[in-house]
Amino acid sequence: MKRVSVLGATGSIGQNTLDLIARAPDDYEVVALTGGRNLDQLAADAVRLRARRAVTCHDDAYSALKERLAGTGIAVAAGAAAVAEAATEPADWVMSAIVGAAGLVPGIEALKQGTSLALANKESLVTAGALVLGTARAHGATILPVDSEHSAVFQALVGEDMAAVERIIITASGGAFRDWPLERLATATLAEASQHPNWAMGQRITIDSASMFNKALELIEAHEFFGVAPDRIEAVIHPESLIHALVGFNDGALMAHVGPPDMRHAIGYALHWPERRHLPVARLDLAQIGQMTFRAPDLDRYPALGLARRVMEQGGLTGAAFNGAKERALDAFIAGHIGFLDMSRVVTEVLDKMSSQDGLQNVAMSLDTVLHTDRLARVRADEAIAQWNESA
Ligand code: NAD
Ligand code: MG
Repeated sequence: MKRVSVLGATGSIGQNTLDLIARAPDDYEVVALTGGRNLDQLAADAVRLRARRAVTCHDDAYSALKERLAGTGIAVAAGAAAVAEAATEPADWVMSAIVGAAGLVPGIEALKQGTSLALANKESLVTAGALVLGTARAHGATILPVDSEHSAVFQALVGEDMAAVERIIITASGGAFRDWPLERLATATLAEASQHPNWAMGQRITIDSASMFNKALELIEAHEFFGVAPDRIEAVIHPESLIHALVGFNDGALMAHVGPPDMRHAIGYALHWPERRHLPVARLDLAQIGQMTFRAPDLDRYPALGLARRVMEQGGLTGAAFNGAKERALDAFIAGHIGFLDMSRVVTEVLDKMSSQDGLQNVAMSLDTVLHTDRLARVRADEAIAQWNESA
């Protein structure tokens, strides 16, 4: 029996993870499930999978969750600290699938128990790559990438020598607006940005796919996780989303990972690693697919990609500032306070300001400095947005 916990169990990745676990209930003991406001889902899954503990990140939702789980014997807790504490419950495998920087502390807590951490929360590596990897090393924990591109690279590297790796190429669908005329992007609505052409995902990552902030996070994530220099990591647009990533070796070979756009592949690979087991994903019929296409991303359409280069090159706490500003800009876009293209303007302004004033490269990385930088970046993003709205 594998003891498993799923942080962010009610989300898109969390639900796909539970789908795999529920297919072989006798193989798993579910230690903890965490979620947010979706208490019906959280409670139903906790009962169905006989979890020992269910946690909502919202303090004020405690009684409502407690009520739903009355008489089941399942322990109930609420609040950010309770989510982090759930990650410390002994488990063999922990899925980190909280969205945003909120996933950082619970993920680090899980690593401290020396477990295998399946990492969907890319923000952990973007904000605090060195800290997260250092914590894993210090506690003998294993990080298994779940982002489909990074799982693809990880799989292409099995049995290979990193010294022979020349480059990493991650693919991007191009998101909802890949074929829109540039002039139209400024007026893109929330509903339009929330439609992904190929993948079914949470709303935030779907909008980040349209702006390619998601790909920017992934370039940084690849740089941190695989330790490959920024100029050896690239993104290419591949509208069919069938090749997830390629690794280029020093003999000119490119090893591509091909599969259907179904996150259960990457999740399942991390769940069963180092074995491969049968997974309920579609088998591709290449003759029917016929062709796969690629094109270079246009930096005018996707300024986030240029920002990713800057973050990788500056290093230090730049990733924490980048992500914090991006999260606030995304909040503001979702709330209707700024336009689609304003998101990258906000992030650029925050990075400019914080790079010169707050010494992102000179401060040593610790959990405190990362969290401080994250908070400050959100304040700076709010300031930038308020200033524009005043002058508009
Ligand atoms: P989602 O919005 O569908 O789910 C997020 C989960 O996190 C929910 O369970 C929610 O309750 C919980 N949550 C939200 N805010 C929280 C907070 N402050 N504290 C604790 N829990 C909180 O998101 P998702 O699409 O499943 O994405 C989860 C993570 O996986 C993100 O980092 C995303 O970038 C990454 N990822 C997702 C996909 C995908 O296909 N959805 C693919 C690759 C990577
Ligand atoms: Mg991805």
